[in-house]
Amino acid sequence: MTRQTLIAGNWKMHGLTGALGFFSEIAPVAAQSPATVLVCPPSTLVHQAARACEGTAIRIGGQDCHAARSGAHTGDVSADMLRDAGASHVIVGHSERRADHGESDADVRAKADAALAAGLVPVICVGETRAEREAGREVEVVARQLAASLPQNQTGVDLVIAYEPVWAIGTGLTASINDVARMHAALRERLPDPLTTCILYGGSVKPDNASDLLGLADVDGALVGGASLNATDFAAIIKAASLKSELVR
Ligand code: PEP
Repeated sequence: MTRQTLIAGNWKMHGLTGALGFFSEIAPVAAQSPATVLVCPPSTLVHQAARACEGTAIRIGGQDCHAARSGAHTGDVSADMLRDAGASHVIVGHSERRADHGESDADVRAKADAALAAGLVPVICVGETRAEREAGREVEVVARQLAASLPQNQTGVDLVIAYEPVWAIGTGLTASINDVARMHAALRERLPDPLTTCILYGGSVKPDNASDLLGLADVDGALVGGASLNATDFAAIIKAASLKSELVR
């Protein structure tokens, strides 16, 4: 069974129109890669980024969406709006959204449902805090988040899971190879479509650790924050994904 390999960049709240030149630097690398390459810029750039990537192998995603299709939600962006602007994917439940905006698993599930209804692929993020890991509760916590954040009773749905230990995001720390392998295996066995669902690792993925992480059987790609802001580093991570065997686009 082959699974899609996905290298996804999350620009977070970084990037003005001057950053769009990034895509012409990455396009030749994406064209050569058997992996799917996705970049999630801030919502202000989604439309322009999608236009800049027309005719390339780069996909564009949002970083969050509202659970409603439209309505009185000042400042929010719906999944339909992202799709209309040219996005194919949307990140939901990133730990920064969970922490900064108090998003619960139920909120994340509603956003994932909205993404699917709009024809977007949701990238559903889960991950434990440092305290939860130190207490040895990481698998229990992440399994509970997964169960409560996934769309309910659905198989055959095109979605992506991202395991991102909170303590590894933006810190330069990464989970050990054994810990990542153990968590990804635990997640996979809890998925409705374990053989086909892509599970990404995220948390300080850099050119120098990408090959080891992507070499794990249950790691189908990476969600990359800081290193996705630098075209040279992001290109190196895309190239590291090419080393995975059994790649499919
Ligand atoms: C992220 O934003 O999802 C992330 C993993 O960030 P970083 O790669 O900077 O740790």
